[in-house]
Amino acid sequence: MISVAEAEQIIFQEVRDYGVEAVPLELALDRVLAEDILAERDIPACNKATMDGIAILYSAFDKGLRSFNVKGIIAAGNTPIVTEADNECVEIMTGAPVPDTQDTVVRYEDVEMNSDSATIKIDEIKKGQNIHRRGRDKQEGDIVARGNQRVDATIISVAASAGKSKLMVRKLPKVVVMTTGDELVSIDTLPTPYQLRGSNNHMIRAVLQQYAVTCDMLHIPDDPDATKDRIQQCLDEYDVIILTGGVSMGKYDYVPQVLDELKVVKQFHKIMQKPGKPFWFGKHTSGALVFAFPGNPVSTFLCLHRYFMPWLELSLYRREKKRSYAVLNSEVTFSAALQYFMQVSVAVNEDGQLIANPAEGNGSGDFSNLADSNAFMELPAEKNIFKKGEAYRIWPFKQIV
Ligand code: AMP
Ligand code: MG
Repeated sequence: MISVAEAEQIIFQEVRDYGVEAVPLELALDRVLAEDILAERDIPACNKATMDGIAILYSAFDKGLRSFNVKGIIAAGNTPIVTEADNECVEIMTGAPVPDTQDTVVRYEDVEMNSDSATIKIDEIKKGQNIHRRGRDKQEGDIVARGNQRVDATIISVAASAGKSKLMVRKLPKVVVMTTGDELVSIDTLPTPYQLRGSNNHMIRAVLQQYAVTCDMLHIPDDPDATKDRIQQCLDEYDVIILTGGVSMGKYDYVPQVLDELKVVKQFHKIMQKPGKPFWFGKHTSGALVFAFPGNPVSTFLCLHRYFMPWLELSLYRREKKRSYAVLNSEVTFSAALQYFMQVSVAVNEDGQLIANPAEGNGSGDFSNLADSNAFMELPAEKNIFKKGEAYRIWPFKQIV
């Protein structure tokens, strides 16, 4: 049996590069941006008024002039009206271009407007006030969004304003989720007391959706021939096979034996951890990777967060996910020589520290607990007592704040 760190290292050696592709902007959400987005022109592209009011030449005001003839009105989107004399002004709306003959905007609140003239009521204004200068935010060719980040609403907005109807993003692996277990029935079937509804496939699909990864789903009966048949087909068709169940020591746990027969080379089987100890990981000559997780839903969920998602992030972003830690808020004892992934509820206290409270309930196997907690805390196998105030690594699966 190997340690959590060894398992992680083995999986990280199998980082994959699936290449890049262009996708329409409306399909780019949650994908990984594979290019820098550049400003196609200065932002803003002209000097713009930031207030509704009048645009004047400051030197005229400075010489004592207060009353100006109104030459016209400029709305946002209009071509600027050019003035000819110092005592002329234009009415200007927020977002409208300031003519080159004007350099200062005085807001309506500080002006008395008459039919064709405007009188400034205040004595102190600053040259250049209320103007958002051309190129002030970004200049043509500047990077407005760096590549290698998740496409979110801000990136969509920046890309749209830069005129990009398509974005280059990292290609995603083709994934199949295969579940095993004759005791499982589908959502719309009423289980007998001896059966249960399969949930792992739906849970895995939901986790994959966070990365915009889609998957096919297959259920295999607990039968070695059927198991072999289905996995064999999938090895050629998919980049990643995620299996759940059938990897333990039970009479009907055929997965490791079948994978071996199909020449999927075992990289490890079993990790010194709880939950998720029987996790099996291997690779096929086709390049396909097989993540075979134990069927217990909490085990599957933990293995996804601790191994699969970090592998996916490393493959898509070419860098490791940032680590997070939290401070334990009560003493915990765990005597087995296993890395213990404890369900915790993490919140930020008034000192800005992340504080982890162990979730109540029936321990790590309790799937219903997951809805009330927001992270796993990784407690090292080398220790048995974990004291209040000590900090340990966490694996958040919900937003913490
Ligand atoms: P196994 O790893 O096949 O021994 O399964 C361990 C436990 O997880 C059993 O109690 C199964 O009923 C349960 N289980 C296996 N697969 C699923 C699944 N797809 N959805 C929900 N529970 C499952
Ligand atoms: Mg089973």
